Amino acid sequence: MNRTHLLNKLWEYQHKFGYISNEAISEISKLLNVSAIEIESVVSFYHFFHKTPTGKHTIYLNNSIISELKGFEEVKTAFEKETGCTFNDNGNEEFSLFETSCIGLNDQEPAALINFYPFTDLTPKKVKLIVQKIKNGENVKDFASKTKSNIHYTPPFHKTVIFKPYEMGKSLQPILKNSPQQIIDKITKSKLLGCGGAFFPAGYKWQSCKNNEADTKYIICNADEGEPGTFKDKALFQYLPGLLYEGMILAGYATGAKEGIIYLRAEYLYLLPALEKLLEEFYTKNLLGKNILGIDGFDFELRYQIGAGSYVCGAASALIESLEGRRGEPPVRSHSATKYGYLQKPTVVNNVETLCYAARIIEFGEDYFLNIGTPESPGTKLISISGDVAKPGIYEIEYGTTFKELLGIEMSQATSPYFVQVSGPSGDCINNTEFNRKICKEDILCGGALMVFNRNRDILQILRNFIEFFKEESCGVCTPCRAGNFILTEKIKKIQRGLCTQEDLDEIKQWGKIIKLSSRCGLGKASPNALIMATEKFKEYFNVKIAPNDGSQNVEFDMEDAIHEFDSLIKDTQL
Ligand code: SF4
Repeated sequence: MNRTHLLNKLWEYQHKFGYISNEAISEISKLLNVSAIEIESVVSFYHFFHKTPTGKHTIYLNNSIISELKGFEEVKTAFEKETGCTFNDNGNEEFSLFETSCIGLNDQEPAALINFYPFTDLTPKKVKLIVQKIKNGENVKDFASKTKSNIHYTPPFHKTVIFKPYEMGKSLQPILKNSPQQIIDKITKSKLLGCGGAFFPAGYKWQSCKNNEADTKYIICNADEGEPGTFKDKALFQYLPGLLYEGMILAGYATGAKEGIIYLRAEYLYLLPALEKLLEEFYTKNLLGKNILGIDGFDFELRYQIGAGSYVCGAASALIESLEGRRGEPPVRSHSATKYGYLQKPTVVNNVETLCYAARIIEFGEDYFLNIGTPESPGTKLISISGDVAKPGIYEIEYGTTFKELLGIEMSQATSPYFVQVSGPSGDCINNTEFNRKICKEDILCGGALMVFNRNRDILQILRNFIEFFKEESCGVCTPCRAGNFILTEKIKKIQRGLCTQEDLDEIKQWGKIIKLSSRCGLGKASPNALIMATEKFKEYFNVKIAPNDGSQNVEFDMEDAIHEFDSLIKDTQL
């Protein structure tokens, strides 16, 4: 056993004892030959590992903005009342309550995980019943919610890519007639864009990994779908996991990798038994293992690694750190993973949806894919829609679809949409003059989340939720992200108190620029996006919020302290 087993070992103790004690750390330290101090620092990094005992039932209530708008506070109060515990301390022997960021159930909010089983559409009445059942000794597994699929089959059949019927092993058949290079050529020709948010062409990654000679290579599936508002990858795990496995097998064949790892976020742990059962079936049918499809020397092994609650691990470099048994902090110098990836070996890291599309492209042919969508972004895209819409859920849309269509009567049926957040808090916000814009590379790309807010929603509440999310999720290694998001939160609070001036708005933009330019990874760089854009796109709203610049706004002023703190932190760090 080595360090790469660290997360699994920690999970063993966390599940068994409800926390990770000093004795556990010392045992793991001896077993894996990693210092106890290092293990402590790994434990402290992940939200789902605890250093002090938790109750038999850990309740993680989602605090995303959609949850907030659908009754989070009432549900939170109900949990506290019924369990006799308060949130974010360790609770009592029976219960521990924690807030957590998006758990992939934004279409069924408020939602919580109890011992990692989902409970959706919560109300105070439902909470009372749930807690009563637990107190009566019932097993949460037996009465957890059956999560709704909410899949909407939008493109006509001849333009559907992902949600066509699935037949096990069908996308692997072309392997029998095509060399690894021919498989890569098909993916490259299809112009498949990565679907995790970076939109990097998948074919380039596969080619680069293939070109890098090495004794060992890896295919990693990034299933750490943590961007608030996104739940499309969860749907793929629930309804098309075979397609994902086939995408990974194809990537292995094409690049010469013989091992695949699916890094599954712990929030989706309840899906694991069915997923592992299917994995066994793949082995039984010789679609995984040795000499796959009877091809001599074509071997590919596939396994799961469970994350432990960290948004930043969704970044490929941080995810690799996590897989290697470290804190999921993005490294300072990030080499291309296709050259020095997992364990310094050539590695392809692709998102769940990307791998599913790869399998479909090989199954249907690249021309089928190229005939759908736009010239720069062929094919379709999965979008998770939540918020003020009558039909939340997952939509497979053809690239080039307008927001107007997506929000319209034929699709999600938004009610007076006003503020739409594209690609989660780290993405762009658009206002109602922009709904004719198209989702595609030629206009605006969407990583997979659309959060819709109507005219009656308070924009500042939305923005504050986003910035607080980043403040919580910042791994803290670089100052602009750690301190900058703190300052932006204070600024928003100041606006909410009615004490904001034009100067404050200008400062928001300046701090945003600093954070974007000098943060180390995508989390920091993207964190001020929504706030900065909103000040531009919702000018009338902010104009109303600005206080007269006559000094009266300084009554409750705490910004000077915040800025002073930020300045001294900056002095300690070379930007
Ligand atoms: Fe960590 Fe934020 Fe720096 Fe990224 S930008 S490395 S999340 S502190």
